[in-house]
Amino acid sequence: AEQHFEVIVIGAGAAGMMCAAEAGQRGRRVLLIDHAEHLAEKIRISGGGRCNFTNRRVGPEHYLSQNPHFVRSALSRYGSTDFIALVERYGIRYHERDHGQLFCDDSAQQIIDMLRAECDAGGVAWAMPTTVQSIARGEGDTGFVLDTARGRLRCDSLVVATGGLSIPKIGATPFGYRIAEQFGLPMVAPRPALVPLTLPPETLARFADLSGASLDVAAQCNGARFREALLVTHRGLSGPVVLQVSNYWQAQAYHDGEWEPVGIDLLPDLDAENWLLSHADGKALLANLLAEHLPRRFAHAWCALHGWERPLNRFSHTELRTVATTLANWQIVPSGTQGYAKAEVTLGGVDTRALSSKTMEATRCKGLFFVGEVMDVTGHLGGYNFQWAWSSGHAAGQFV
Ligand code: FAD
Repeated sequence: AEQHFEVIVIGAGAAGMMCAAEAGQRGRRVLLIDHAEHLAEKIRISGGGRCNFTNRRVGPEHYLSQNPHFVRSALSRYGSTDFIALVERYGIRYHERDHGQLFCDDSAQQIIDMLRAECDAGGVAWAMPTTVQSIARGEGDTGFVLDTARGRLRCDSLVVATGGLSIPKIGATPFGYRIAEQFGLPMVAPRPALVPLTLPPETLARFADLSGASLDVAAQCNGARFREALLVTHRGLSGPVVLQVSNYWQAQAYHDGEWEPVGIDLLPDLDAENWLLSHADGKALLANLLAEHLPRRFAHAWCALHGWERPLNRFSHTELRTVATTLANWQIVPSGTQGYAKAEVTLGGVDTRALSSKTMEATRCKGLFFVGEVMDVTGHLGGYNFQWAWSSGHAAGQFV
């Protein structure tokens, strides 16, 4: 027997549950479908198991999209204060870390349980694990007919909340992109984002002695600058600052035969030139002076890398200025990213220029909605990706 729902949401992750809960609490008859065995695995593993569920300050400047103003409407109608109020209503204890990031004190599971309870409060029905085999328009070009592992289902509104491509081993698929293509929506080519960067073999070999270092730096790429920790690993560059700039590092851009560099400021709190010049007469090794502000092992390896293993008084002022410039803007040219297996999110996705920023509905396909990461909206590191899932899910939930 066929079953009819007013709303079917495919993908019971962050955005899908938020949308289903909101629609259900408005009195809509809602079904949530997910192919995964376990509910919301990405929330469970997020933020090191404590879920960085939002940020104190959230604005359009924290997002990348080909359509940068798209996020304004949904963020202003359901912002971080709204989600914080929900978390507080459930008595979930949380704390603030650097840059306004909010994390659960105990466990990300509390966020999953909260969303599940919100769905229950809206009488949402579940089909999980269930795969969707095909989707077609209903009669008279209204509604949708879904063939699923549990038989045929019909709905008036279809919400695609299948997320991005990162971490395929916990269930990420391009299914949402296929649906967009099937209904003629344009796509922005997806690529891994918030992802460690790899280095070419010759750079890795030269950096061997730097590996293991963790430094508080500023990194910049393509006009964006972030201040956070850098990790040099045996595979390349990682740590929050690298994840942040990875969103701006365009693997495709190939200027004059060179991949784009990432610029690292190793001493972001210091005027390196004045500092070095004020020690120009010193007999200490440059590395020993640098070790006042950098880990000792790193300082020595970094000086060796550049052939600067001399006492300060054996450098000319011009050479010290070169050292200072290199400290402030150490140019490293990555060769790629560690890919979707290590990426937190996906850049690109369903082109938001084909969606209503108020409702998330496809402007040319009535009743078809996209929410969360499946669309071309990517947040910085720091709770912004979940906030987009909450804001866009809530926006669609009010209109489906
Ligand atoms: P998801 O939460 O990924 O949900 C998509 C759902 O769709 C999944 O349940 C999936 O099983 C289902 N699905 C996929 N394909 C199909 C299909 N074919 N049929 C049926 N169902 C399907 N963001 C933050 O803001 N803060 C953090 O602390 C944070 N930490 C992260 C840590 C890691 C390791 C990772 C990978 C990501 C992290 N993120 C974080 C990003 C955040 O998890 C995502 O941006 C967010 O989950 C996107 O929500 P979504 O609902 O769009 O997609």
